[in-house]
Parts: sequence; C-alpha cells; structure tokens
Amino acid sequence: MLPYNMIMKKEYLKYIPLIIGIVIGLTLFITIDWWGFLILFPWIGLSISAGIYLRQILPQNKKTLGRRISILLILPALLIFVPLANRENFQLEGVILIVLVGYFSKGFIHYAVAKLFGPLIWGRGFCGWACWTAAILDWLPVRKRGIISPKLWNLRYLVLFITIALPLYLVHVLSYDVRGDYIGKTELGWMIGGNIVYYLLAIPLAYWFKDRRAFCKIVCPVSLVMKVPSRYATIRKKPSENECTECGICSQVCLMDIDIMSFISQGKSVACTECILCGICVIRCPAGAIR
Ligand code: SF4
Ligand code: SF4
Ligand code: SF4
Repeated sequence: MLPYNMIMKKEYLKYIPLIIGIVIGLTLFITIDWWGFLILFPWIGLSISAGIYLRQILPQNKKTLGRRISILLILPALLIFVPLANRENFQLEGVILIVLVGYFSKGFIHYAVAKLFGPLIWGRGFCGWACWTAAILDWLPVRKRGIISPKLWNLRYLVLFITIALPLYLVHVLSYDVRGDYIGKTELGWMIGGNIVYYLLAIPLAYWFKDRRAFCKIVCPVSLVMKVPSRYATIRKKPSENECTECGICSQVCLMDIDIMSFISQGKSVACTECILCGICVIRCPAGAIR
C-alpha cells in the first residue's frame, strides 16, 4: 500500500476528476439533451483537477490553497452559470417543490449526482470541493478556535424539517401552482433569495463561533441529506503505512471537528459522515500517517 503523499504525486491522479467530469457531462448531454452539461461537469472536473495539481506542486505550507482555489473556481459554474442559463433553483426546498409535482428536471439531476449518488463514492466531497456556500466561507479570514458543541449540530434537523415542511405546506395547504407559477418563472428568485439567506447566516456564524464551517455544522440541512449515502462512501481518509504517533494534530486541524486520531491510531479509515475530504489532516500530519 502506497503512502498518500506518494499516491498524490502520481501523475495520473490529477486527471481523474477531469475525465469523470467529461464522462458525466457527455452522458447527461446525450441522455437529457441540454448543452449546459457539456460545460458544467467538465468545468467542475477541471477545477478539481487544478486543485489537486496545485496541491501536488505547492510547498507544504501552501498546499491547502489547492482545494480552496478549486472550490472558488466551481462557484460561478453552480451559483451563476446554471441558474442563469437554466433559470432553476438548486436549493433543497426548490428540488422538493419540483419533485412534489413529478418534475425531475436538472435541479433534481444536480441533487442526484452531487448529493445522493455521488456521496456513495466520494462521501461529502461536494462539501469540501464544490459547494458554492463553502466557497466563500473557506476564504473568510477566520482562525478556527476550539470545536462547536455537538448539541448545536442537532439544530440542522430543525432546519431540515422546515425546509421540507415549507414546500409541502405551499403545495398541499396553500395549493401553490408549482408548474404554473414556479417552474421557469419564480425559480431564479427563490434561488437568489435562498442563497442570500444562507450567506447572511453563514458568514456571521463563522465569525461568531470562530469557525468558517459553523454553518455546515449547525444549520445546513443539505449536510443531513448527504450524510445518509456517505455512510457507504468508498473514498475515505485512511491510515498509511507510516505509524501514527498520536500527536493529535489531525484532530485539532480538522475542519469538521472529527476525532481523526481515534480512527488512524487504531488503523481504521475515518468512517465519519462529516468528513468533507478536504485533506487538511493529510497535509498537516507530521508522520505522514494518513492517506
Ligand atoms: S454542509 Fe451545506 S453549506 Fe456546508 S459545504 Fe456542505 S452543502 Fe455546503
Ligand atoms: S497527525 Fe498523524 S501522527 Fe498525529 S495523531 Fe494524527 S494521524 Fe497520528
Ligand atoms: S477528516 Fe481530514 S479530510 Fe476529513 S474533514 Fe477532517 S481534515 Fe478534512
């Protein structure tokens, strides 16, 4: 088994996301016949490939820039290009609205690829590498201090309940005409409004808790959706051949407050559905014990 850093140096690794992006884009273009797929998925793949490449070539103290540049490159594709080109709302409540009336459009496809089936392979990798909310959060000048109480993490369930209840209430109680009044008409407004609410919550929370990912931990209902398939993710952080010295640095630097040491020191993969595959633990481990 090769140590992670050696694998990362393998030339082919950086091309894999680009190849996957081209394959997904072509497949969806052929089956669903929307030209935007030919731009969207190759661009996402290219951005992640660029992030991996930067991580490979940058000096040790700059390696985390690779992922943060990657996530920033993907932001305009998902937050601007697709909503404007397609006038669709990718937010969870929007996807529930269209599914309630049996309209499995591109917003649903985004959810299926990024948040339902994709996590079966790469877990919460979307959260680490492609989320447009986190793309801003990860660049905030906030230095992480301590961890957020696990009790607060449960607030996400309340937000998820509201996010599901709102479309149900609109459709079944207020008889909201989704096909007539929402699809292709007010969707873009919902998308913009939903994202404004997310950013208005996420940025102050990052400063309040001294944690850029506070919103992900306390508020984001999407994280709960992804946690379910992420239980079966095939890509996880794992122990390398190098021995863990139990220094605890990985657990301290983890963006998602995971006690990584308890997994790695026992020779186990990081089987936690909060892992966003950011790779910071790998970069910071002084023993090279994580891959
Ligand atoms: S938890 Fe939510 S806001 Fe955070 S990265 Fe994941 S999808 Fe984005
Ligand atoms: S940083 Fe590396 S050596 Fe230290 S506890 Fe974590 S895995 Fe073990
Ligand atoms: S376990 Fe490692 S890769 Fe996963 S979120 Fe924590 S620091 Fe990132």
